[in-house]
Amino acid sequence: MRPIERGSVPQVYARYEDAKQDLVNRLGLYCSYCERRIATLLAVEHIQPKALPQYAHLELVWENFLLGCVNCNSAKGDQDVILADVLLPDRDNTFAAYRYDSLGTVEVVTGPSESLAEATRELTALNRLTHSDWNDQVMFSALERVSQRVQAWEQAREALVDFQAGRTTARAIAREAAGCGFFSIWMAAFEGIPEVRREIIAAFPGTAADCFDALTAPVSPRPPNGLPHSAKS
Ligand SMILES: [Zn+2]
Repeated sequence: MRPIERGSVPQVYARYEDAKQDLVNRLGLYCSYCERRIATLLAVEHIQPKALPQYAHLELVWENFLLGCVNCNSAKGDQDVILADVLLPDRDNTFAAYRYDSLGTVEVVTGPSESLAEATRELTALNRLTHSDWNDQVMFSALERVSQRVQAWEQAREALVDFQAGRTTARAIAREAAGCGFFSIWMAAFEGIPEVRREIIAAFPGTAADCFDALTAPVSPRPPNGLPHSAKS
C-alpha cells in the first residue's frame, strides 16, 4: 500500500465532495488503499466514517480524507476505525507492511505491525472477491481489481525485461507505472533497482518520500509526521 503525504489543508470545505479535486491533485487518481488507478468513480473516503456520531465532526476535516474506490469504500462502510488498531497510508509506512505477489494477492509482512496490517487489509477487503455488503456490480469490480493486479505484474515484468535489455529508461518506466497504477507492484517488480524505484516514487503524486531510504528500501517505522498514533510501521 503506497504511503502518502497529503500535505497541509488547501482550503476550508463546505461539502466533503469539494475536497476531491484537491485530493486528486495531491495524490493522483489512485485508490489510497488498493492502489488502482481510476479516472472516474473515485470518491472522497473518510478514514473515520462520518456516519458514526463520534466522528460526525470529522466530515469536513482534511486529515480524515483519502481517496477510495468503490470496493474499498463499500467494504469499509461505516465500520468503526480505531486509529491505534490499524495501519494507514497517510500516517504509517504501509509499503513496508504488505507484499504483493504475481497472483494478485496482497500478503501481510510478518513483524511487529502484522496484526495492524491485517486489520487494514480486512477493513478494505483487499483480497476478497465477495462481501455481504456488495451487490453484483461491486463484486464484478472486486474481480476486476484482482485481475488488474495480475495485469500490472505482467506489464511491470515486461518493462523489467526491456529495461535489462537497454530498450527503455527508468523515467519511461515510471511514467508507464503512473499510468497503470498499483505503485507497490511496480516497486516490487523493480526490487534491487533503485534507479528505477526512485523514478517510480517521484512519478506517483503524493508518495511519502521519507518512507524510503537513499537506496529505496522502506524506512520503518515511518518518521513521525504529527498524526496521532504514528511510528508503528
Ligand atoms: Zn480501492
